[in-house]
Amino acid sequence: MKIDILAIGAHPDDVELGCSATLAKEINNGKKVGILDLTRGELGTRGTAEIREKEAANAAEILGVKFRHNLEFSDGFIVNNEASKLEIIKIIRKYRPETVLCNAIDDRHIDHGMASQLSSDACFLSGLQKIETIFEGNNQKAWRPKHVYHYIQWKNVEPDFVVDVTGFLDKKLEAVFAYESQFHKKEADEPETPITSTNFRDSITYRAQDLGRLIGTEHAEGFTVERFVAVDSISDLI
Ligand SMILES: [Zn+2]
Repeated sequence: MKIDILAIGAHPDDVELGCSATLAKEINNGKKVGILDLTRGELGTRGTAEIREKEAANAAEILGVKFRHNLEFSDGFIVNNEASKLEIIKIIRKYRPETVLCNAIDDRHIDHGMASQLSSDACFLSGLQKIETIFEGNNQKAWRPKHVYHYIQWKNVEPDFVVDVTGFLDKKLEAVFAYESQFHKKEADEPETPITSTNFRDSITYRAQDLGRLIGTEHAEGFTVERFVAVDSISDLI
């Protein structure tokens, strides 16, 4: 199966927080989307890897993605080395996405910046024919995604471009809050965390409103790029 967009996140819920309104809009437009989580989020203060796995599956269903894989790298200790790059390359070559969305280049959680660079490096290396990979018993062909964009998550990174996601924020919030253990379902002995606060929950909507305000629409999500974004026609811009 070939897909149009692969969204990669260090932890289950990164993709939902960073770019799920954009994904929901693209899926609504008929695009095929997959999600790749690099870790199971087992170091999270709340919930367990098993709970988060179920929540991630629910969120994937809400969004309507074609698949969701987890590479089970070590949460908190993601490394950008040959072995981890090869694991991501195998997924890129299997699904041949035109566009890859990945973590913010700089963020609060140290895994995010690491995953950002790792994903970007894997996209480049995946296009080199002499890097041989075998996945599910098959020799894979080289494939380089045309575009790599970084979504924005915790820090207020200045976007290079924004996507009008008016009409898709509700879907995003539904997917984000499918992670009940992370955002609102509190076990008796579990402490508050930066993302369990009402402030954080409201900030998801606020950021979408704020970016939307700046482009004259209701809601938007922002991305950064590594090189210029090109358009066919100046009229493509909204
Ligand atoms: Zn994360």
